[in-house]
Amino acid sequence: MSDLRNTSLHIGFDDTDSLRGSCTTFLALRLVERISNDVDFLDYPRLIRNNPNIPWKTRGNGAIGLSLKVEEDVVESIVERAIDTLKEMYEEDENTNPGLVIVKGEVPQELNQFARKALTEVISIATAKDFAEEFCFKYYTIGNGRGLIGGIAAIGNTLQPELEDFTYEILTYRMPQNIKKKRVIDYESLAQADKKYSPQVFNNIDEETKKIIITPAGPDPVLYGIRGEEPTILLKMMKEIKTMEPISSYCIFRTNQGTDQHFKYASSEVVNFNVFRGEIKVLEKPTTIPGGHVIFQGELVSNKKSVDIAAFEPSKRFRNIIKNLLPEDRIIAFGGVRYKEKFQRFTIQLEKCEILFLADHFKEESPFCPTCNKRMISNGFNKGHKCRKCGYKNRELTKVRTLIERELSRGLFIPPAQAQRHLVKPHRRYNLSRKNVFGLIDNWWKT
Ligand code: ATP
Repeated sequence: MSDLRNTSLHIGFDDTDSLRGSCTTFLALRLVERISNDVDFLDYPRLIRNNPNIPWKTRGNGAIGLSLKVEEDVVESIVERAIDTLKEMYEEDENTNPGLVIVKGEVPQELNQFARKALTEVISIATAKDFAEEFCFKYYTIGNGRGLIGGIAAIGNTLQPELEDFTYEILTYRMPQNIKKKRVIDYESLAQADKKYSPQVFNNIDEETKKIIITPAGPDPVLYGIRGEEPTILLKMMKEIKTMEPISSYCIFRTNQGTDQHFKYASSEVVNFNVFRGEIKVLEKPTTIPGGHVIFQGELVSNKKSVDIAAFEPSKRFRNIIKNLLPEDRIIAFGGVRYKEKFQRFTIQLEKCEILFLADHFKEESPFCPTCNKRMISNGFNKGHKCRKCGYKNRELTKVRTLIERELSRGLFIPPAQAQRHLVKPHRRYNLSRKNVFGLIDNWWKT
């Protein structure tokens, strides 16, 4: 590191892509390449996933934050290069509203708080503009500038190891001529590498369907991404996965993916589009509605308000857990809130669920015949039971209550990887020890 590079800069940006193409992470790599000779990077580019429930996201609501040190007299030139890269690479679309923010010096605490809100609530563009005016050295927007929200959050969410859990993702990119072609990954090489490096890598193959889940579906430049705990392992694994096309470039990002960070800051208040984490008492037996979604009415333990809880079709086997809940059971629901105007009701769309308590439920059945041991039938109201086989009758015999054996156990349940949102912490990460440092490895990016 050069002594002269003693000015810290933090660059955050978002909303540069559309479903027709591009990817904010690719823009980040280009910018890294363009400024790398003049800066010392303090961190990997951070790929921050924000509130997954906001309706205007393109895919996974991801934003990028870069933290670096630079000489004071090149600050302006770095700002220019950042703005030029954004202008040149964003995907023009009516729903693309890029925003870029630059903070000079320490990241103000207010931005840390903003980042927590961005994870769990909806923030207005006006609020983001006020923040940019007050706390940022420079900002730049196109369209309505909505990207400022994610940009500020990506600077404010510093993922300090002593405070936050974090993971890494290595993203590999395609040659431009291949972008519209089908992505082909060799299944065997991926399955082998996944087994070899597990649990240091996660969400490569969906455990239920065996589907490869490292590739995106759209026309963006990403070939695949591998998620994991250590940058060196991601680099190794990248070299072991066989693909039918060459990789043009790659970059390692530090991220909040797979950490449940949104649930860490969630509240148990039910607000449209917010992230929810709270205790629920089950009020009725769940039902399956057309489309295969499972839904039931529950009560918020904190304020006794009634709310609908839903497990959607893509969550597959997870729905069977939810389907088996019964009244008086207690769960912690983790998910996103939606308000349905038509029914004037809130629904919590489950991302995971912890069963805290399973209530006793009984069934009432006719007793077995004391002479021939066949199940008896009722002999009419208050007239006891009779046996159809041997004819035995007894006016005193009443129904017997037996405890229903529940097909559930207490514990944490998570939908299969394929249906998980980026932020959700998968089972594979639960028993890992916490990382308390990070350091940039050689070759963390390549173009
Ligand atoms: P990709 O994953 O491909 O990068 P995306 O899913 O991140 O795409 P964007 O096109 O970036 O989608 O759109 C998300 C928009 O939502 C951005 O403008 C971002 O600033 C904004 N946004 C992010 N978090 C919040 C929030 N909590 N409240 C309001 N707006 C938000």
